[in-house]
Amino acid sequence: MDFSSSMHVLTWELTKACHLHCRHCRARAIPNRNPGELSVAEIGAVLDDLSAKLDLKPIMVFTGGDPSERDDLDEILALSVEKGFITSISPSVTPRITPSLVWHWAELGVRSISISIDGPSAEIHDRFRGVKGTFERSLEISKAVVASGMSLQINTSVSRFTLGGLKAMGELAADLQVSSWEVFFVIPTGRASIKSSLSAAEIEETLNYLVEYQQQVKFRVTAVGAPHYLRIQHRLGLTGDGPPRQSVREARGFAFIDHLGEVFPSGYLPLSGGNVRDKSLVEIYRDSELFRSLREPSNFKGGCGSCEYSLACGGSRARAYAVFGDSLAADPGCVLSGSELPAVREELRLISSF
Ligand code: SF4
Repeated sequence: MDFSSSMHVLTWELTKACHLHCRHCRARAIPNRNPGELSVAEIGAVLDDLSAKLDLKPIMVFTGGDPSERDDLDEILALSVEKGFITSISPSVTPRITPSLVWHWAELGVRSISISIDGPSAEIHDRFRGVKGTFERSLEISKAVVASGMSLQINTSVSRFTLGGLKAMGELAADLQVSSWEVFFVIPTGRASIKSSLSAAEIEETLNYLVEYQQQVKFRVTAVGAPHYLRIQHRLGLTGDGPPRQSVREARGFAFIDHLGEVFPSGYLPLSGGNVRDKSLVEIYRDSELFRSLREPSNFKGGCGSCEYSLACGGSRARAYAVFGDSLAADPGCVLSGSELPAVREELRLISSF
């Protein structure tokens, strides 16, 4: 796929409304829906535009907030399926989500559901998500997804609060018969603070574990917010012959639309390339200055600019922006970038001054 013209995945925030209280919420979710949300007709027009201009349609991931807060969700899902998009949904696990609703989504033609589970116990998960009982409910819904014949993806946010449970979480993912386990390295944006972020050394160690774990299991294990996962795979000879393929990251194979129609390179990078109410999504993705600059590795600064993996990896542009206010800065989450989180830098300075 040529990422300068095509998207592999499009994540769509249908609403900001949600009844969980997650510590790290990217969206800073709110209890009620915003009346300015894109309508079904506006969503349909964007889907038509994508169908007309792209040879390969992106995988459509409907998220929030909690997408099930929208009473027209069925219409949106049916529209996406009918127009030929591989359709996925990422609901928040609240009492609204029941096994019978899961079966209903399967009947509508939804292909996969992603459920967030951040640790192998209620103690870790419920504390992180801010609502007691969410862990048990998430297990029940995950089992219903598999029973309904849809693919189950488990998303695990890894931060200071959840790191200790990650290996046991990997085992739980296997027990739940996932098709895919996505580990999200928390970016300090939204409600997530920089103190909850892992250092570059911790991320490196965790990525090594994930690459090793991938060798032991049949389901897909991936890292989000840490494209240098690919560097580790490549150095271990796990990416085949020749140069490594490019990883999907902000503006490169990926775009995010918020509930008001703003188009971002990622849900974790709050810089807009334009609004679908004014302009074609495909044009924003292909031609906006922001999206173009984030795809061009020669723009990257520090270690990410001079790195042999700048094209294939390029670092997390979202973390660079969250930490330095510069989306082209070196990614402080990578040991090769020559950059560090300010908090970690301060710790290292204190240690070396002894
Ligand atoms: S220095 Fe930047 S481009 Fe190189 S592997 Fe690390 S994050 Fe990727």
